[in-house]
Amino acid sequence: MLTVLFADRIENWPAYEPALTTALAEAGIDAKLVLPPADPATVDYIVYSPRGPVQDFTAYTRAKAVLNLWAGVERVVGNPTLTQPLCRMVDEGLERGMVEWVTGHALRAHLNIDFFLSHQDGVWRQEGNVPPLARDRSVVVLGLGALGGACAQTLAGLGFQVTGWSRTQKTLPGVTCLSGAEGLRAALSRAEILVTVLPNTPETTDLLNTETLALLPKGAVILNPGRGNLIDDDALLAALDAGQIGHATLDVFRVEPLPPEHPYWAHPKVTVTPHIAAETRPASAARVIAENIRRFEAGEVPLHLVDRSRGY
Ligand code: NDP
Repeated sequence: MLTVLFADRIENWPAYEPALTTALAEAGIDAKLVLPPADPATVDYIVYSPRGPVQDFTAYTRAKAVLNLWAGVERVVGNPTLTQPLCRMVDEGLERGMVEWVTGHALRAHLNIDFFLSHQDGVWRQEGNVPPLARDRSVVVLGLGALGGACAQTLAGLGFQVTGWSRTQKTLPGVTCLSGAEGLRAALSRAEILVTVLPNTPETTDLLNTETLALLPKGAVILNPGRGNLIDDDALLAALDAGQIGHATLDVFRVEPLPPEHPYWAHPKVTVTPHIAAETRPASAARVIAENIRRFEAGEVPLHLVDRSRGY
């Protein structure tokens, strides 16, 4: 019998225990679920989260893999005590959540919904306020992975002119795919709505800075559900104040929770959402965990193995 340690926050255990029990049984895996402080020397697999109690893997000498419940791995990928293979979460629930958050906020910007919400004052403002059709609106998605790719395709399905940008060249139906430094400049220069769904790596840090923000069309809207480090905050605040950026909806921040005194909270052109764009869903995530344990036990290639040299 395998021993699977659940090393996420204990508050999540009531949702994950039944989900993992069912998924492991369905995958035909004979396993016992345990909680910290189980004897590390008995643990075969660690179901991990960066907010969980296990951040030092030294004593887990028997563990065959660390299975992250999060899509992002920046808080564990460089952990010097981690010698086991690391898998990240690609979960259908996570993907649907991200698609819905991005689509909702893209449509909100496209239809200028904030304007009408703040003008319910008896004045009939029809002139000049008919929104263009989606086919006349250019949306750019930086990051075309599991989440960004799904967002780009959904936006394209709604009719938007969608351009995507990634490290390696991609082909996605309905999406103009770009890569490389030139590709980034071309993408930014057409981004009326810019969506950043990149991971946090040394290469993506401050990708949106004074210089790159200046490449966007004046009044562009930014949606950042990726990671806080993607944006130089001072540069964004300056670009918002100058009117170069029309609005930013930010779900992720360098420091979370975003401190109450942070200028984003009070800025009239910023919407803060509290890292809720996409959440791992226990039922679908448990199936991914179980499938990966099955693959490790069968000697098959695991799903979503993190490339440590790439950092994501
Ligand atoms: P993936 O690893 O599947 O995709 C990452 C994408 O970013 C890939 O297209 C990759 O390019 C691209 N990329 C990485 N580095 C670079 C670079 N230097 N230059 C250009 N493109 C780059 O990740 P996911 O789609 O699953 O997740 C993306 C991120 O979303 C996560 O890392 C996490 O930070 C964030 N997230 C936020 C959540 C929220 O609630 N706000 C929830 C879940 C995730 P290539 O395809 O060439 O490898």
